[in-house]
Amino acid sequence: MSEVRTRVLVIEDEAPMRRFLRTTLNAHGYAPIEAASATEGLALATQHGPELVLLDLGLPDRDGLEVTGELRQWSEVPIIVLSARGLERDKVAALDAGADDYLTKPFGVNELLARIRVAMRHRGRAPLPAAAVWSVGPIEIDDARHEVRVRQEPVHLTPIEYRLLAFMARNAGRVLTHRQLLHEVWGPGATSQTHYLRVYMTHLRRKMERDPARPALILNEPGVGYRLCDEP
Ligand code: CA
Repeated sequence: MSEVRTRVLVIEDEAPMRRFLRTTLNAHGYAPIEAASATEGLALATQHGPELVLLDLGLPDRDGLEVTGELRQWSEVPIIVLSARGLERDKVAALDAGADDYLTKPFGVNELLARIRVAMRHRGRAPLPAAAVWSVGPIEIDDARHEVRVRQEPVHLTPIEYRLLAFMARNAGRVLTHRQLLHEVWGPGATSQTHYLRVYMTHLRRKMERDPARPALILNEPGVGYRLCDEP
């Protein structure tokens, strides 16, 4: 077998968590590389050029945030941060610093594998051509005509709603922070206006969700942002 496995760099100081990640990654065809500190992680990243990084935010020597910033200076490698529950501020800061996604500990094997697949799909993705028609789950977007269909039914969106949905659709499966969404749709002056998002997400859900009270397409990530579900 000369199969080339995807190299995943795990930067995590807790041995049981590293063991769980190693076992899971090995069992699913990935090749884990392990580091127990930020310094070691950065060194191994340079040495091995991994295709994906799983990064714990609470490391003994340096903050995971700093590691994200440093990696981003020279690498586009997808970074998924691992963080304890209740540290939303840290997750948001890591995402804004260039991490691709996050997982809240404790997480299950399926959740981990799903996030890895999403991050790998987005790796080095070229911008979509202007005339593209693309679909995400039951949503179909015609970017040339600015037309949207959900479950084959046309949905009429305002220009702002359309931009919001199109940006989420281009990043389907990924969590987007409030800041990233506001910056993209309303511009750099509006990055603290999170109430815009609450209002517009409510509109979008009313127009698109089967049950707007229990959204299945536009998922809320409390304290962090939103994620467009990319599963059928
Ligand atoms: Ca830790």
